[in-house]
Amino acid sequence: MKNIVPEQSRVYLPIAESDQVFPVGRIYCVGRNYAEHSKEMGDDPERDPPFFFAKDASCAVPAAFSVVTRIAYPMSTSQFEYEVELVVAIGKGGRNFTMQQAGEAILGYAVGLDMTRRDLQAQAKKKGRPWEVGKSFDESAPISPIMLKTDLLTDNVSKAEIGLKVNGDIKQISSVANLTWSIQEVICKLSEVFELRAGDLIMTGTPENVGSVIVGDEMLAWVEHLGEIRVSVTG
Ligand code: MN
Repeated sequence: MKNIVPEQSRVYLPIAESDQVFPVGRIYCVGRNYAEHSKEMGDDPERDPPFFFAKDASCAVPAAFSVVTRIAYPMSTSQFEYEVELVVAIGKGGRNFTMQQAGEAILGYAVGLDMTRRDLQAQAKKKGRPWEVGKSFDESAPISPIMLKTDLLTDNVSKAEIGLKVNGDIKQISSVANLTWSIQEVICKLSEVFELRAGDLIMTGTPENVGSVIVGDEMLAWVEHLGEIRVSVTG
């Protein structure tokens, strides 16, 4: 059979210090996985547990370490916000994982941004509508190269500093230890509602103090032990 339209392209993330790449399958995201961010969004972290949503795989933008990656200010918003997140790359698929299987499913880790059209997300929330307009749009997920898992890296990442600067000023800073659902718990719970596949990415949630950027701003996002990415917003 012949394609009637051209095949849409897939996004590949480099594996750090390797010539291999990671073909991005699905991108799952966790909402309100840091209590302090849950509060700033007007929710009660005791009453409202974290939950899942997704971005289209085409939202991913490979963001190399130590080079500035440019993303365009998106259409239809006047509140374009950053959320720095630890990203987990899945190397082994399956469903209904135990905690041990969840650990074994991890291929590696990356630093990512869950860029959000907050005004559109807020309208969707108010009307009980899906979040795609606020979350799943072109270039909304810049992600660093993937650092392959080792036992030491897993241990270090679980308590790593996570943060974001805009134009040199610290905006977000926290620790991965503050996750409401740990990395393995996130994978377990996700595998209870979706059969995971090798190639899937999970954005594990953002800490408090999200805020907006405008054209010309440069964000620097980091997770200790993984590295930092620089992402600038163009007109
Ligand atoms: Mn997020």
